[in-house]
Amino acid sequence: MRSSYATVSVIISSSFVHQFRRTFISLKAMATEDSLRRALADKQSTIDARGTAIRQLKSSGASKSEIDEAVKALNALKLEKTSIESQLKASISGDANGSAVSRDAFRQAVVNTLERRLFYIPAFKIYRGVAGLYDYGPPGCAVKSNVLAFWRQHFVLEEDMLEVDCPCVTPEVVLKASGHVDKFTDLMVKDEKTGNCYRADHLLKDYCKDKLENDLTMSADKAAELKHVLAILDDLSGEQLGAKIKEYGIVAPDTKNPLSDPYPFNLMFQTQIGPSGASTGYMRPETAQGIFVNFRDLYYYNGNKLPFAAAQIGQAFRNEISPRQGLLRVREFTLAEIEHFVDPDDKSHPKYSEVSKLEFLMFPRDEQMSGQSAKKLCLGEAVSKGTVNNQTLAYFIGRVYLFLTLLGIDKNRLRFRQHLPNEMAHYAADCWDAEIESSYGWIECVGIADRSAYDLRAHTDKSGVALVAQEKFAEPKEVEKLVITPVKKELGLAFKGSQKNVVEALETMNEKEALDMKAALETKGEVEFEVCTLQKTVTIKKHMVTIAKEIKKEHQRVFTPSVIEPSFGIGRIIYCLYEHSFYMRPSKAGDEQLNVFRFPPLVAPIKCTVFPLVQNQKYEEVAKQISKSLTAAGISNKKDITGTSIGKRYARTDELGVPFAVTVDSTSSVTIRERDSKDQIRVNVDEVAAVIKDVSEGRSEWDDIKKKYPAHTAASADE
Ligand code: AMP
Repeated sequence: MRSSYATVSVIISSSFVHQFRRTFISLKAMATEDSLRRALADKQSTIDARGTAIRQLKSSGASKSEIDEAVKALNALKLEKTSIESQLKASISGDANGSAVSRDAFRQAVVNTLERRLFYIPAFKIYRGVAGLYDYGPPGCAVKSNVLAFWRQHFVLEEDMLEVDCPCVTPEVVLKASGHVDKFTDLMVKDEKTGNCYRADHLLKDYCKDKLENDLTMSADKAAELKHVLAILDDLSGEQLGAKIKEYGIVAPDTKNPLSDPYPFNLMFQTQIGPSGASTGYMRPETAQGIFVNFRDLYYYNGNKLPFAAAQIGQAFRNEISPRQGLLRVREFTLAEIEHFVDPDDKSHPKYSEVSKLEFLMFPRDEQMSGQSAKKLCLGEAVSKGTVNNQTLAYFIGRVYLFLTLLGIDKNRLRFRQHLPNEMAHYAADCWDAEIESSYGWIECVGIADRSAYDLRAHTDKSGVALVAQEKFAEPKEVEKLVITPVKKELGLAFKGSQKNVVEALETMNEKEALDMKAALETKGEVEFEVCTLQKTVTIKKHMVTIAKEIKKEHQRVFTPSVIEPSFGIGRIIYCLYEHSFYMRPSKAGDEQLNVFRFPPLVAPIKCTVFPLVQNQKYEEVAKQISKSLTAAGISNKKDITGTSIGKRYARTDELGVPFAVTVDSTSSVTIRERDSKDQIRVNVDEVAAVIKDVSEGRSEWDDIKKKYPAHTAASADE
């Protein structure tokens, strides 16, 4: 969540990723690492002392047998040291048995499969591409459209949200009001000789990670310090980042040249609207502003009722300083955003009880600051203890958890991390990021923020259009109001031409300021008062203003709604889903590793493949007929009538994550094979479409279907 428009969005833990399953670095693991570092340091000093002793033995003319004995003991110590080093390396990499494929090799296997099967393609590849821009190929497009369809179902339809679709090109005034023109920045450092640019926080993070993973001689205290820096990276100011870069002697990675101090770089792509060049615009860096500027009309469309939510799916553009990590940090990406407008005095949610019992990994800010790890918490308890600010925010956290896990994200590698104090924008009431662990570490994929009334107020001020809601009272209410009445005649005499500025400043005092002034005027008779528009302080005397509480009748309450914003980076979610779904299994002959994506049917790019077992016209006719009935039932499917061996055809579809394969081996009944279990059942030709539809749309589970139909027990055609 780039809430203060100047923060980092990816936290990488110091752990590696295991090929198939990964557990969190527990406190126990950290303790092991610390004790191994201490043991290594102790062993090294014993070795040094023994080395000195041997030299002394030699110079004092000790006997050969005495020296040989000492050298033997020294060699034994060196062997022990090597053993501690290997244990430490294994502990750092989380690869204790030494047999797991490293995170880099795992990532390479996933990425190779994704690129080879055209899930995605580096954009403009024939011209050597552009960093941070990617195309989605056919299976990638299908996965993305399935994820978006489910997002619409799970949020827009389920919550009755108002979906809008606004332009990407946005006039400057909108983004000036929202704060993006001035503050949508990341901190950048430059190579002082070549001018190459780097993200300051990324360099510091890489330095800490590299040291922790590769410097085995580092003391346990230093390791703890670097881990702490990683934990609070998002909280560091520009000055603090610069100071750490200097302290650690970090230089430009490519040239080893010195670096400049960090300075802010605005991430928006600027453009001109129209041919004259007179009107500046930007490619939107988020979709939210399109919703805020339409608040008045949407509120009216909703029958002037709160709460309600508007939603938007669309492209966002950010000129990232150093795009890296493949699909995770790109310069154009799809965002799906929700702006839920709510009365700031009532942030309860009618459907809160549907999620309050959920339990999942949460990482409150206190745990982060004290170096602990994420813990399983009950959402309802987190709200009642005040860890999560309010019910509506918690409701969306719960819904996001359900959305991601139903898509196929591993719940053990999903955590909700609360923003650290400096990371959160000053106006925000509370923010949580849904982070997913991948081979790149913990990645922020969804930001869920209570942005209070900031955005609507900012657009009200700039546009002059009141973006407010009203609560009509059934009966007029008598309310006590603080009324500030500047005495214009006296102020005119005292301040002449500046009278208007002073009057305005007095009238816009908040209740606390006004009450303080009233108290000071009553005791001292005068008070010093700062008038921002005059950029000076003036003296207000008792006769220049009256401040009194009065009882007034009011028919309605007018207020600026608060906004709760879940913001989904669709590309990041999809990439993490690819990693969480990927596994390899040996071929039957055991001579090859076959790649499989275990996508749930909901997201699988194709739900079913249809193969004739052998090339034969009768079987091909049946295959065509089945494919037609699947298409008519709205099930995406693909025929493969090549003469390739059935095993190879299964391997090809497993690599695309197709959950079901129909093999035509007779004209009356066929086999249906499930991808992960490789179980096969026999089903009559005219029932196939209905069975596949049921199981791929989640109305039946494969295990239930299996009970209903005979297993296909003939010598498996699988391999
Ligand atoms: P933010 O407005 O910075 O909180 O971003 C909202 C969401 O957009 C994040 O949770 C990410 O999932 C996603 N996101 C932000 N920056 C990028 C990027 N450069 N590439 C891909 N996704 C991004």
